[in-house]
Amino acid sequence: NHTATIALAGNPNSGKTTLFNAITGARQHVGNYPGITVERKEGSLNLNDTRVNIVDLPGCYSLSAFSQEELVARKVLVDERPDIVVDIVDATKLERHLYLAIQFFELGIPVMLTLNMMDEANKKGLRIDTEKLSTLLKCPVVETVARSGEGKQELLEKALHYAADRGGVWEPLEISYGADLDTALNAMVEKIEAARFMTNRYPARWVALKYLESDDEIVTAGRSIGSVAFELEEMVSEVDTHCRTTLNTTPEALIADYRYGLINSILRQDIIERPQQVDRRE
Ligand code: GDP
Ligand code: MG
Repeated sequence: NHTATIALAGNPNSGKTTLFNAITGARQHVGNYPGITVERKEGSLNLNDTRVNIVDLPGCYSLSAFSQEELVARKVLVDERPDIVVDIVDATKLERHLYLAIQFFELGIPVMLTLNMMDEANKKGLRIDTEKLSTLLKCPVVETVARSGEGKQELLEKALHYAADRGGVWEPLEISYGADLDTALNAMVEKIEAARFMTNRYPARWVALKYLESDDEIVTAGRSIGSVAFELEEMVSEVDTHCRTTLNTTPEALIADYRYGLINSILRQDIIERPQQVDRRE
């Protein structure tokens, strides 16, 4: 007899709650995270000989500290370490929704995708090469229609299978952010690793990225932990000046650019086939 915890994540309106309801039915519990108004929904079911707990994470666009929802989502991931995150992606908004997926990959937590709203995608004539997307992202990708429950069984089975395969091991994806940022990131990672600064919770490169993104929560938490925080802040300040003066941008914006660049390099490989455009000028 095993237990496994699946966290459902995704952008707002991707269908998380609908899928959560389709999966758990009436076996659910709604509460609040302590001290804040963000709702916490949990449910459970038995699948084969596994007791499956499902947590519906608050909707978020990214894993930065911009909103209470995003803070809660990442806190659940690092504090509770669910066995797998199922990232619910609106199949009709693949490019925008993959931004969050990239950050799960960078955090390293086991994650798989479900392309939800497949009925809408079909109506629009979009054809998505799910298998190829899965190969390129190196994680399982399934298709669902949360409203009808279509695909939910396959989703659950693949999720449990993949969670067992990964065995709770986090494997952070290292994206190249170009020569300027990579040099700084590597130097920061060295410091972070030597001081074991926050590395009991996060991958070192993730901490470095959060510093470059000027993440309020991480920077503030860092100050109460050790003096290495101030060295990191100084390093960031140098990179920040360099970005502003020579590239007319901020590290944060540059990081976002590279993430979208990665998404586009994947989607360009014939992942989406759109319906033929009719030329109405004729
Ligand atoms: P959440 O914000 O991620 O929790 O999204 P919801 O579950 O509240 O869904 C947002 C809207 O999309 C609701 O109106 C749902 O009925 C609708 N929806 C969810 N999944 C699907 C789907 O697979 N197909 C279609 N057509 N609509 C869906
Ligand atoms: Mg919801």
